Amino acid sequence: MNDRNYRNEEERPGARVPRRGLLYMEKRFWLLIAAVICISALLSWMVYMLLMPGDVAAGSSKNPEHLVVQSPDAAGNGNASGNSALTGDGSVSGNQNGGGNAGAAGSAQMGPREHLDSSKCPTDWNLRLVNPWNSMSENPDIELTQLSNGHSVDQRCYPDLQEMMDDCRAEGLSPTICSSYRTWETQQSLFDANVNKLVAQGYSKEDAQAETAKAIAVPGTSEHQLGLALDIVDVNNQNLNETQEDTPVQKWLMKNSWKYGFILRYPNDKSDITGIIYEPWHYRYVGKDIAKEIYDADICLEEYLERLCAKG
Ligand SMILES: [Zn+2]
Repeated sequence: MNDRNYRNEEERPGARVPRRGLLYMEKRFWLLIAAVICISALLSWMVYMLLMPGDVAAGSSKNPEHLVVQSPDAAGNGNASGNSALTGDGSVSGNQNGGGNAGAAGSAQMGPREHLDSSKCPTDWNLRLVNPWNSMSENPDIELTQLSNGHSVDQRCYPDLQEMMDDCRAEGLSPTICSSYRTWETQQSLFDANVNKLVAQGYSKEDAQAETAKAIAVPGTSEHQLGLALDIVDVNNQNLNETQEDTPVQKWLMKNSWKYGFILRYPNDKSDITGIIYEPWHYRYVGKDIAKEIYDADICLEEYLERLCAKG
């Protein structure tokens, strides 16, 4: 009777309405899920927008390479411009012996790290530390041996250098030395030439010197002045840039130079310690035993000396 006032079973009071109730539950459930997703997305976006700029900045400052003033090959004749940075290696090859590849090594900005004072370290000839924070004496006691290609090195590292070059060539490779010993005068003239050029462009002398020091080592702070450093490249790629690391010569040298007493002096991840950009061509003689220790421990010369000095 009364039942006919109801349009269907589901509208009847007390009737079970499982399908419709379930439908409502499902709608509410899905609305709730959608709301949660929307709010989560909004919150994520807000957090992202708030934090992202800081992360990017922090990321770049953690990577010394991002702060490098200028790549050596791009530096041309040793001129570089860029951000404030400490003095780099300033290697400009070939100027002593004519020709060769010009390039001024850039440098890396330093963090709060405290740098080693080499005056507290042993003074052995093969452990002399020359870097932006440790200058060498003006008249170092060096006896040179001149190589057949006109380059010169400290005579004490010559036999090992010759053996390394011979063994590398015996592997069918073509290494060539593009920079070696550099006199104080050579380094000074490189530095002065760049200062004069900048002064001619309108810089004050102080500014020109500061700008030059970013790319060309201040005389006394280039390891080449020791006669123990060499820039060795593959004859098929003589660019002083990171492409060197892919050449067969560099691969061989990086793997084997320690056996002859040479270390890759400016590794990729040590710029904040060495003050010099990654230079996969610059080798430094330290002697076979120490080179093995440094190679095995995967450290740079500064770190080795820190450990040595700490031992007293
Ligand atoms: Zn060099």
